[in-house]
Amino acid sequence: MSSSRPQLVFGLTYHGSTPEPVQGLDNVFGKHISAAKLKRHLDWLKRRFRILTIGEILDQARRGTLPRRTAFIAFHDGYRSNYEVAFPILKQAGLQADFFIPTAFIGSGQRFWVDILDAALKNTAKSRLDLGINENTMRLSFESKSGRLEAAHTLRRYLKGLSQKDFEPEFQHTIGELGWSDAAQVPRLGKHEACMNWQQVREMAHAGMKFGSHTHRHLICATQDEETVRDELRISKKLIEDEIRKPCAIFCYPNGSYPDSGNDFTDRLAREAGYDAVLYMVSPYNLLDQNAFRLTGIALGEWIEFRKFKMALSPLRFRRYRWQKRRLWPWDGGQSGADQAAVDLGRNREHLELRSRICQPGERMPGYSSLEDDS
Ligand SMILES: [Zn+2]
Repeated sequence: MSSSRPQLVFGLTYHGSTPEPVQGLDNVFGKHISAAKLKRHLDWLKRRFRILTIGEILDQARRGTLPRRTAFIAFHDGYRSNYEVAFPILKQAGLQADFFIPTAFIGSGQRFWVDILDAALKNTAKSRLDLGINENTMRLSFESKSGRLEAAHTLRRYLKGLSQKDFEPEFQHTIGELGWSDAAQVPRLGKHEACMNWQQVREMAHAGMKFGSHTHRHLICATQDEETVRDELRISKKLIEDEIRKPCAIFCYPNGSYPDSGNDFTDRLAREAGYDAVLYMVSPYNLLDQNAFRLTGIALGEWIEFRKFKMALSPLRFRRYRWQKRRLWPWDGGQSGADQAAVDLGRNREHLELRSRICQPGERMPGYSSLEDDS
């Protein structure tokens, strides 16, 4: 086997996209990008990078023929706007992207809990809420729009930190406190919270778009037991392959942070389930060699200024980032031995610290913060 130097590959991650910009509780963290902004991103990228699908990148990395200045584009969560808004834009640009779908949501009308939470906060008649958490009280005020938005950030941070066992009762309790007897009674946020159906997935796959797994039920893998993770990996893979009649070879972690959402152990489970690679959402930078298995993309959306978007994709910035964070660098090619253990420990500590305090108003979640943190 010939050896080659690891190559820098940029990973970009989007969620939904909206015809016009959407703000506030309808688009917390600005995660849904407007059509105009997405077009601008793709135009800029096309002029500077070879845009390949993840499958093509892995192939070429294995053969040692990866071109310089390569990037991939991923969309998470299977929002229907992937079909209605992003797909036509990608087709027009002549680009292919990877779409990661939580299969239980496809064609089922199921909603993501974060969208239910945001809709509840937008529509609640309550003006304030004091939630008791252990010996502390979380005080939330809904008198202003910004108060409601802060509550959305705070409650996300809190609920995402719970174990699977504690999550469901705590979520139902929160929705109850906001004024609904059942999550199904909470009004819908809008058209952009709907997911695709299988017909739309097949049409996109037929047109060259790639589909990968984002678990079945959009579960945070690192907080599940082994059996559940194995099931999620297997069921979603099979459903996608049965529907599109093509291999589902890439797995993408919900929530996407490392090691809170996925880690070495869940990576191994993914490998055993037959995936060729796993995708996190930590930074835009991948250094890929022939053994590439773990990939990452940066979470982009309406929130990012164009100036920062361009900055994120600068090789110079990558060098600075790598130099500053070299002890916390889990992404280099082979990633073996003592270095990797040090990396895991370092990141673990960083994330545990983040989780150990309930977030301050206005703070961004890990995974949405890679650019803000170090600029
Ligand atoms: Zn997701």
